[in-house]
Amino acid sequence: MITVLEDMRDGVCEDGICRAGEVLRRGGLVAFPTETVYGLGADALDAGASAKIYQAKGRPSDNPLIVHIADWEAIERITVDRPAQAKLLSDAFWPGPLTMILRKSAAVPYATTGGLDTVAVRMPDNPIALALIRAGGGYIAAPSANTSGRPSPTMAQHVAEDMDGVIDMIIDGGPVSIGLESTILDLTEETPTILRPGFISQEMLREVIGPVEMDRGLLAADSSVRPKAPGMKYRHYAPRAPLFIVEGDREKVQEKINALTTLERESGRMPGVIATDETSGSYAHAIVESIGSRADERSIARHLYAILREFDRLEVSVIYSESFETPQMGPAIMNRLMKAAGHQVICV
Ligand code: AMP
Ligand code: MG
Repeated sequence: MITVLEDMRDGVCEDGICRAGEVLRRGGLVAFPTETVYGLGADALDAGASAKIYQAKGRPSDNPLIVHIADWEAIERITVDRPAQAKLLSDAFWPGPLTMILRKSAAVPYATTGGLDTVAVRMPDNPIALALIRAGGGYIAAPSANTSGRPSPTMAQHVAEDMDGVIDMIIDGGPVSIGLESTILDLTEETPTILRPGFISQEMLREVIGPVEMDRGLLAADSSVRPKAPGMKYRHYAPRAPLFIVEGDREKVQEKINALTTLERESGRMPGVIATDETSGSYAHAIVESIGSRADERSIARHLYAILREFDRLEVSVIYSESFETPQMGPAIMNRLMKAAGHQVICV
């Protein structure tokens, strides 16, 4: 049975953090809240502990882990040849949803970096996460706390669904605030390159360090160009039912989704629709979930994974989703939705 520390829903509980820190220092696994999604933590400098993460998630061993730190000074032990941009970005965005790829030192085992000579580093913006990192020895490797291939967990209950009986402890810190994984920026390239879009946009990074590129493998995700972040090549975040994104003029999108769901119902099956607060009343022939409001893109990011899990639970036969090209997080939201859809898009 897994231990769930529910006493941290309203803030940091020192006693609970001590217990969880001890589990980590003994080489165990603890799931904990961050501002992006729930993470599955282990001591990043202990190869055996990192290996347990891959096993618990069923994660391919070439998919490296992000090392979480709680203080800027901690970066010195695990990286070498840091470019000046690293400190500038840390001053601007840490603690926060930005992961930097840097050259690793010998202190970081290859088990943590999936065999790479680089290491991904982030300082999360969540008081429970920061306290746990310090209590666990300062360097916590943590991918998202879901079974590989399932949508990332945005509440403790999602972690329990996937990890009960497999890990030692879950800290329940309530629902996360952002709901999509961090922006990953590779600082080992001549021009810093975004390997995964997130809350921190290309524009926000450019304002701090100048030119920033998008990984070509991201822009052409279904072509022969391989994404540079090993994890981005896998079909992630997949719901059980096939998912189609319907793109185009708003009214035409509604008409198309209504036509498709009517057909589905006539065949005796129950489709699902991902709509917004503005449109959820327009679909009559499906189970409709509103992802949030178009006027508040953070609400859209925050609910995406929970809705994909909810449609798994309801066992819908097919899912049709509107598309969400919002100003700041649009590239991140659409990147995750496109992966969940296996790039199946219906243009109207
Ligand atoms: P997750 O923590 O599950 O969201 O996954 C971490 C992501 O970071 C995956 O897409 C990894 O491929 C990526 N990543 C971690 N370390 C590196 C690295 N050294 N170089 C490139 N990508 C990395
Ligand atoms: Mg993940």
